[in-house]
Formats: sequence, C-alpha cells, structure tokens
Amino acid sequence: MINYVLPDKINGSKMHELLDRVPYLSEKIRKVSYDEATHSVNIGIDTNDEEEIDNLHRHLNEIVETLRYSKIITQKTIRSRKSENASKRDYDYSLHAYFDEDEFELYRMLDYFFLNIAKKYNALIRDYPIILNANNMSRNNYHKNFPQNVFSVSHVPHNYEQLQQFREAEQHDTGNIFVHHGQYLRPCICYHCYEEFQEQSVDQPIIVTSQGKCFRHEIEWKVNRSRKNEFYMREIVFIDKPEQVVTLRDQIMNDVWSLFEDIDLNGSLVSARDPFFYYDDLKNKGAYQLMSHAKYELEAESRHSSYSIASFNYCENLLCQKFNITDSDNEYLHSGCVAFGIDRWMEAIFHRYGKEKKNWSHIAGGLYLYA
Ligand SMILES: [Zn+2]
Repeated sequence: MINYVLPDKINGSKMHELLDRVPYLSEKIRKVSYDEATHSVNIGIDTNDEEEIDNLHRHLNEIVETLRYSKIITQKTIRSRKSENASKRDYDYSLHAYFDEDEFELYRMLDYFFLNIAKKYNALIRDYPIILNANNMSRNNYHKNFPQNVFSVSHVPHNYEQLQQFREAEQHDTGNIFVHHGQYLRPCICYHCYEEFQEQSVDQPIIVTSQGKCFRHEIEWKVNRSRKNEFYMREIVFIDKPEQVVTLRDQIMNDVWSLFEDIDLNGSLVSARDPFFYYDDLKNKGAYQLMSHAKYELEAESRHSSYSIASFNYCENLLCQKFNITDSDNEYLHSGCVAFGIDRWMEAIFHRYGKEKKNWSHIAGGLYLYA
C-alpha cells in the first residue's frame, strides 16, 4: 500500500476530483481511500516493482500540480427531495449479467416514461447502430477526451493466411492479428444523431430520441449495479438556436423532476461536471462547463450510495461545429441532450421499493400521467 500525503490546497472538490482520477493511473491499483486524519490518500496496489511505484508517485504529483492551479467550482444543489415514507430497502446486490422477467418489465416501463417525455416535444424516433464509425469518432473526439472509457471494435482481416493464423493462435496471442479501423462501441446515443444531420443547414428545430445499449470501460473493481460496462440509455437530443436549446433543456428537466417526484424517489438535482482526465480538458472545458452551468445531473440517493440517473446538457455550438450543422444563415446551431441511465433508474427503484415486483408495480399507474 502507498500513502500519499496531499498538499493543504487540495481539498473539497479538488480532492474529490483527485480521488476520482487516481484509479485510472494504473491497472494494478486495487483500492483508493482518503484518510482524513493525515489528509492523505491510501492506494492499494498490486505490485512491489520500484519503478512502477516511482511512476505512480510522479503521476500523482502531476495531477496534484494540475489541480492546484485549476479552478473547480463547487457543485450546487438546485432541488432536493426526501420521500416521507422512504424505506430504503436492502436487496440482493449481486450483479448478474441479464435482466430477469421483472427487471425487463421495469426497464420497459421506465423507458416508456422517458419516451413519452420525448414524444411530448414531437421528437423524431430513431434506432441507431451500436457501433460508431471512424468518421463519427474523429468528429466527436470522445476517444481523445476519455480514452479510459472506450471499447474499440476490431476484426480479423479477410485474408486466408491471417484467418488460418487466428484459428491456430492461443487466445492471448490473437491481439496482433486483429486490426482496428477506428470503430468503437458507442459510449452514448447522441453522436449518431449529430451524424444523421452532419453537413446540413436546417431552419427547423431538430429533436430526436433514441435508446439502446451503451458501453464504457469502467475500472474493474468499481463495477457494480449502477456502474456497468454496458448499460441502457435513452437520450433526447435537440438542435436549435441557443435560447431555444436552453429553454427545452430546462423544460425537460422539469418533466423529469416531476417523474422523479411521482415515483417518490430520493435525491437531488445538482450542477455537475464530467470527469475530465486531460490537462487541456481541465484547464478549459471542465472549468468552463461548471461556470456556465452547462450541465445538471439528477442524483438518486440510497442508503449506500448516490449516483447520477439522468443528465441535462447544453453543449453550446461545440458539437454542431464538429458535425457542421448550421442554420440557413450559415451560423452554427447550438445543441443539448438529456440522457437517462435506465439501469440506474431501476437501481433507484429497487433501493426505494425493494426488488419484488408487487412493491413497485403501482408505479405503472403513472403511465396515465405520461401517456
Ligand atoms: Zn448526449
């Protein structure tokens, strides 16, 4: 175990940022915890190799330096609620790799609620591929901003010798036969939507909704039922003039808050930031995003944890610029999206009502509200 003493200036949200980033420094890290008494971080690491440990110290120093001179604005709570009869229940926390029948029903019910919010604004309904192509990725740049999260898609070349080689290779030797042409499993839904409208000049607001599996490479020991490598997401994406984008984002935020109240969940709506990993992101985008309150998150609270179940984003003209989407005067349009982490809503409901369907099936009555 390594003990790393933090400078006094690394506290509050800077310290949280640091704790979030440490697990990505090495695959050998198994545990990260903060020791308040000594204002230090304890890092459980699976190696005694001196060079590796020296490197880790050096990387920790780099992060501390970056954070020391960056500006991180404290999260603000916009709304908050505690259910009066909240019996936060325990249930079987084991992670299984499938939905059983009841879980599948809950998933469909929740998605139906979200879809109906989208329909209220006449959103176009889409089903997009799970794979993002190289053109899309090089435009949205997610892989450069969040390399720690990506899953790439690779294939065996259609070549007699290589196919033969692949058949004969041991599992761990197949790596250099695979080739990668810049395709990735999608980390979210909205990039497909920008791709659909790329290189277009539009004079009508665009509102689109789509849902499906998304993929993010999480830290192995942090994976749990609300932090999975693959999960269901629905997004509502909107492209319009700046003022209209913000207004719609806020309207949908109100709709989602009402749904949250109707289901009687516990939690709060907070101004939020994405975890950013690179120097550049931290110095520019990260700090900027917080200042403009570009992003809000709905956090569900349970006895053991709190986690974000929806986010409400205003991207200014950043993505429209990258995908060249303009109005008829050739000005870049602005855009935003609302994203629902469906598996996490399911978790929030299980935490609130327990796993048994008879305890949460009444929520279906809410269907009438959203139909
Ligand atoms: Zn999005």
